[in-house]
Amino acid sequence: MNNIQQNLINIKNRIIQAANKYHREPEDITLLAVSKNKSYNAIQEAINFGQYQFGENYLKEGLEKIAHFSNKQDLIWHFIGTLQSNKTKLIAENFTWCHTINKLKVAQRLNNQRPINKAPLNVLIQININYEISKSGITPAELDKLAAEIVLLPNLKLRGLMTIPTLNNDINQQISIFRSMENLFHQLKKKYQDIDILSMGMTADLDIAIACGSTLVRIGTAIFGSR
Ligand SMILES: *Cc1c(COP(=O)(O)O)cnc(C)c1O
Repeated sequence: MNNIQQNLINIKNRIIQAANKYHREPEDITLLAVSKNKSYNAIQEAINFGQYQFGENYLKEGLEKIAHFSNKQDLIWHFIGTLQSNKTKLIAENFTWCHTINKLKVAQRLNNQRPINKAPLNVLIQININYEISKSGITPAELDKLAAEIVLLPNLKLRGLMTIPTLNNDINQQISIFRSMENLFHQLKKKYQDIDILSMGMTADLDIAIACGSTLVRIGTAIFGSR
């Protein structure tokens, strides 16, 4: 068995163990394989082992991969990189998900540019949960307004929230940050019936994320090795 297949087995076991530990159902946690900077061959290995959801950060690279694997109809591609207004059209045309909505303007552009023959683009609002100036995403206080505007856009489907928390060696601080995301997610869920995705957790913080209600983990390094 090659490394990627073994890594996928290991990460799925980690998800199952964390789910069991925190009284969650493993099926409620989606594994997104983050394939940025990784080759077609690496992605093909993951596909061979049943992985079908992939996340890409860089538009050009992501589009090349979507084109390369276009004969595989079951693949689901998530855009998880920084959004720029001038890039929205190609995202709207080619991806199934966008995790990094951070302003109404980009949401409106994605909505207008989504081809009518495709299902609505699934979108997540990115929350800057550590209030870091250098990080993209809105503050929790801005969420209600932006969510209310996005749910009115017919070619987008608001599915939930995404965050990239700052790594923090203080486990209690880290848990309280993740818990605040979980609370925001539950509040949003009460308001809108289609909300089901909390995109939170990467290779280093997968277990805490699952403890705090993540329903989708974005894993690169633990599947494909370091970049
Ligand atoms: C690169 C990246 C990941 C994957 O991170 P790993 O630590 O390699 O698992 C997840 N989410 C986003 C937004 C990323 O840019």
